[in-house]
Amino acid sequence: MNQPQSIVVEFDAADVRRDFPILAQEINGHPLVYLDNAATTQKPEVVIEAIADYYRSDNANVHRGVHTLSDRATQKFEAARESVARFLGVSDSREVLWTRGTTESINLVAYSWARQQLRTGDRILVPWLEHHSDIVPWQLAAQATGAEVVPVPVTDRGEIDLDAFDELLDDRVRLVAVNHVSNALGTINPVEEIARRARAAGALVLVDGAQAVGHFPVNVEALGCDFYTFSGHKLFGPTGIGVLWGRGELLDAMPPFLGGGEMIERVSFAGSTFNALPFKFEAGTPHIAGAIGLAAAIDYLSGVDRAAAAAHEETLLAETIARTADIPGLRRIGAPTRSAGIFSFVMDGCHPSDLGMLLDEQGIAVRTGHHCAQPLMERLAVPGTVRASYSMYNTLEDVEALVAGIRKAHTLFS
Ligand SMILES: *Cc1c(COP(=O)(O)O)cnc(C)c1O
Repeated sequence: MNQPQSIVVEFDAADVRRDFPILAQEINGHPLVYLDNAATTQKPEVVIEAIADYYRSDNANVHRGVHTLSDRATQKFEAARESVARFLGVSDSREVLWTRGTTESINLVAYSWARQQLRTGDRILVPWLEHHSDIVPWQLAAQATGAEVVPVPVTDRGEIDLDAFDELLDDRVRLVAVNHVSNALGTINPVEEIARRARAAGALVLVDGAQAVGHFPVNVEALGCDFYTFSGHKLFGPTGIGVLWGRGELLDAMPPFLGGGEMIERVSFAGSTFNALPFKFEAGTPHIAGAIGLAAAIDYLSGVDRAAAAAHEETLLAETIARTADIPGLRRIGAPTRSAGIFSFVMDGCHPSDLGMLLDEQGIAVRTGHHCAQPLMERLAVPGTVRASYSMYNTLEDVEALVAGIRKAHTLFS
């Protein structure tokens, strides 16, 4: 009797890596080890080509021209919106708005929803582990309305304290703004559960998905949130383009964020009326090449086994944790149960930025500092960390290079 054989799916990271031309280069005489993916991801050749092709062959302004090129550009631009809608599991692509990125998306909601809706005494719950982009826009909206931004406690492991969250969740809470994955620690937050509880308490939920979409598939309907946002550049796409998805009835009721061309129905000095979704929120000439490049990135990802890629990233993180465990004075910051490929750490006697520079001399790119999450650093009582963040194209050799680099730093500094 044969036991059923378990099939081990090997993810071929080296093969994926070859699709990204920048990764073939040397930095400071060493092969590039790019471990700053939480800041921005690299771009596959097909994305670079899609952008170049657009400018070479189709460039024209969208939605306005009667001519063929404009029509072609518009078709590609709107097809890109459809791609994003499918990517997020959204059935109506009019709910997908183009922005410059996560930061602008959150500001859009803070201006067009929060400033209109919030009153004195209302509350916005924001966990301690948020990126500054998901804190400051709410503080500005709170200042303007008399509402209050209330932090949700985080445990020493770097996870949202759900009991404390429940205690804060009363009828003053109008919005919960939470990241799907922490950019500083890699914590994968239980946003589905958070959204369920928040909505049951009558609050809306905005999920900052900037760190999530590059690591695993996301379906906003299944998450049950009201707004979801991400940036193209952390999803193997270009900078300067991002997405805000919002529930249609919410977006319909929100006033425009920016005024200008494209977003109007009719303009007169007696008063102007506004265009329908999504154009109401897209004043001026959009980042057409960016949208097309982002769609190319999404298309590229459809050819990647994403579950295997996520498992591969988990392996890289587990190997990093295991191989650094015996380095004296090295301490991982946060220990989330579910983590998306981020290793954040400090080392006694070695300032994070010194370690970062030493690694750079060996061709290893990491991030050091507070990672735009100063409240979290304060909560975890560290001034900053060194952060290695993995993506699907990183390999076990990258982990080995990092660990060797840290060991070298350790001998130099201790
Ligand atoms: C990067 C990041 C942001 C900001 O994204 P931008 O592209 O700079 O607008 C916000 N939140 C998280 C969790 C991020 O990782």
